[in-house]
Amino acid sequence: MGFGLLNKIFIQFPLTFWDEKLDSIFIASNRFCLFHCQPLDHMLILFVCGNLARELEQQTDEEIIEQVLQRLKRIYPQIPKPIKWLVTRWGCDPFAYGSYSNFKTGATYETLKELARECYDDRIYWAGEHTNYDGTIGCVDSAFESGHREAKRIYDKLNKISS
Ligand SMILES: Cc1cc2nc3c(=O)[nH]c(=O)nc-3n(C[C@H](O)[C@H](O)[C@H](O)COP(=O)(O)OP(=O)(O)OC[C@H]3O[C@@H](n4cnc5c(N)ncnc54)[C@H](O)[C@@H]3O)c2cc1C
Repeated sequence: MGFGLLNKIFIQFPLTFWDEKLDSIFIASNRFCLFHCQPLDHMLILFVCGNLARELEQQTDEEIIEQVLQRLKRIYPQIPKPIKWLVTRWGCDPFAYGSYSNFKTGATYETLKELARECYDDRIYWAGEHTNYDGTIGCVDSAFESGHREAKRIYDKLNKISS
């Protein structure tokens, strides 16, 4: 499996300058395109992933925010100065080194099954977001579902032994 990177850039403005009814704003751009809108907080949240996310992690917050504002200015020329921002850098975080497991080239659902295969004479069972071969991978629900699956397998095994 691979391990992918998704970062978020939160930018808070003194006022909501976009149409409050919008859930999101999409700009045709190869760098900053999808903004999630939170008008009550006057906040836009931008998602960046993959190589762009890796590149941005090497830049300062100020450099990143300036680039984002330049993009937004194309459709909102009167954009106000932001009052606060927060930029995640999960790729550099030594406790995370990324955000989600993903299928790197060559990995398949068989890879997930292999990672979930019990071992040590059937005494160790594996759950986790990267083992959810019956559903989605990489999210909390994937971890939860795979946990249920393995708990049921252990329960069934113990029942079989005791009966
Ligand atoms: C930055 C980021 C943002 C995310 N955002 C979302 C989101 O918005 N929505 C969503 O659904 N999912 C999100 N995820 C993914 C979600 O957090 C994971 O899919 C989920 O936590 C995986 O659960 P898990 O139980 O498989 O693994 P983990 O939660 O990683 O649990 C593994 C545990 O094992 C422990 N461990 C590791 N090695 C050992 C060892 N040798 N001995 C003992 N313990 C060990 C670790 O400390 C950890 O507690 C995000 C993940 C990251 C990193």
